[in-house]
Amino acid sequence: MTHLPFDDRDGFIYLDGKIIPWREAQTHVLTHGLHYSSSVFEGERAYGGNIFLSEKHSARLIKSAEMVHMPMPVDLDAIENAKREVLEANGFKDAYVRAFAYLGGEQMGIDTTKCVTHFAVAAWTDWQSYFDPAERKKGLTLATVPTRRPPPECMRVHSKSAGNYQMSMIAKREAHALGAYDALMLDWEGYVAESSGANIFMVKDGVILTPNADRFLNGLTRQTIIQIARDNGYTVDDTQRILPEELIRADEIFLTGTAAEISLVSKIIHDGEEYSFGVGPVGLELASAYTDLVNSAPEPHSP
Ligand code: PMP
Repeated sequence: MTHLPFDDRDGFIYLDGKIIPWREAQTHVLTHGLHYSSSVFEGERAYGGNIFLSEKHSARLIKSAEMVHMPMPVDLDAIENAKREVLEANGFKDAYVRAFAYLGGEQMGIDTTKCVTHFAVAAWTDWQSYFDPAERKKGLTLATVPTRRPPPECMRVHSKSAGNYQMSMIAKREAHALGAYDALMLDWEGYVAESSGANIFMVKDGVILTPNADRFLNGLTRQTIIQIARDNGYTVDDTQRILPEELIRADEIFLTGTAAEISLVSKIIHDGEEYSFGVGPVGLELASAYTDLVNSAPEPHSP
């Protein structure tokens, strides 16, 4: 597929209460969100017209805004409706959905009290695979990078707020410079945290381990995979701190995320050494169970 720039496409975007043509969804250069990362977002996926865990994503968007003191102009129902309208207007069934909120240009500077929060939803179909399909097929290569996840006192690490992604973007560049496809980010104490945009799991002697999510985003896919694995009879330990030296002794490693889905890791570069991992069978089993789940009936609409 040829690459289309994201700001120059046919289609429709929801912005502040209405569906408008894609190219008209513009904002001013003096938008607060552009200067101070005063922006929160969600990454969601529709499968066969249904957004998997749609209400959980909407609730997380509201929570993320709350955590960074951005008053949300819409409630959960309005977010749900906007997402549905965007999928319908564009005629999308299988799509990546981006619901987001940002502060406008009413005020510049650190004081945000006069800023208005804008709410928008866009969707696109060209992220059927978030990672390059060829890289994903052979298994991803990750590298431990210098950029760390900070302590929760310094950053709202549990919010999906733009500020957290500056670290992710730098980390990904650092990983590329080390010859890897993506970053393995450690926390400020040197324990394994996550990749630039997905959670990480390891399998060792049939047991599944994933680091305690008290220092980074506790992904909805992470939570779903823990449940699927337990239902399939696996022991899952999601409460430990894991050192990179333990991770590299794993039998299998995989990433989880709404965009990444379940992506298997075949190599980790750590301190200049390369460590290889099998791509499956546990990761493949869980990936297939995840595919079945996301393509099954939609979650019941809560009353
Ligand atoms: N960590 C980061 C930094 C992410 O950007 C994402 C993707 N939202 C995740 C983890 C996984 O979260 P989820 O499974 O809810 O998509």
